[in-house]
Amino acid sequence: MNYVIPSWNLPSLPVEGSEERFPVRRIYCIGRNYAAHAREMGADEREPPFFFLKPGDAIVENNATIPYPPATENLHYEAELVVALGKSGSNISVENANDHVFGYGVGIDLTRRDLQEEAKGMRRPWDMGKGFDSSAPCSKIYPASSIGHPENGSITLTINGELRQSGDIGDMIWDVPESISYLSTLVTLEPGDLIYTGTPEGVGAVRRGEQIVVHVEGVCDLTLNIN
Ligand code: MN
Repeated sequence: MNYVIPSWNLPSLPVEGSEERFPVRRIYCIGRNYAAHAREMGADEREPPFFFLKPGDAIVENNATIPYPPATENLHYEAELVVALGKSGSNISVENANDHVFGYGVGIDLTRRDLQEEAKGMRRPWDMGKGFDSSAPCSKIYPASSIGHPENGSITLTINGELRQSGDIGDMIWDVPESISYLSTLVTLEPGDLIYTGTPEGVGAVRRGEQIVVHVEGVCDLTLNIN
């Protein structure tokens, strides 16, 4: 294929136990998917799930150092389990949802909280608060064929070794199969799509020079440095 301007590389992530990579298509994120975090953001914890997107090229790999992003004075971390889809589908049943999962990773939904709050206040879209450059750090993808489908297990986030978030992925309001099923009524899900499944309570600011480490029990660790 020839293009009229230079093309770019397909965003992708390494896969544990493979020389081949996972190509990243769309990045879907679930808002307020843990009750305590929904409360800390001032929401009713029983509302249906809602979704927003980040660009596929917002992916950042494990152990990267990224610059503190522009246009914010309040960059927040959100520790999240990431689901990597390997099969196309729409109107997927909860019972069949795990068949669409290739594997799992550990991610951070980096958020320019000041821009997000301004957008909320003005009833504007969240894109510039959520979908900026390097806003989607993610670990390697661990295939479900080797780690299974984690339903419970601790999720923690530390800044420079100090614990800031501690939850359990079993406390999601909408679990992974329910989230896949619901999202697939809104859009056709495709191989290469990632779903960031929401964060437990304890979100807060990360500053220049700090190191974030996220751990999800049964999956892996993710380390990110902010320059
Ligand atoms: Mn999030």
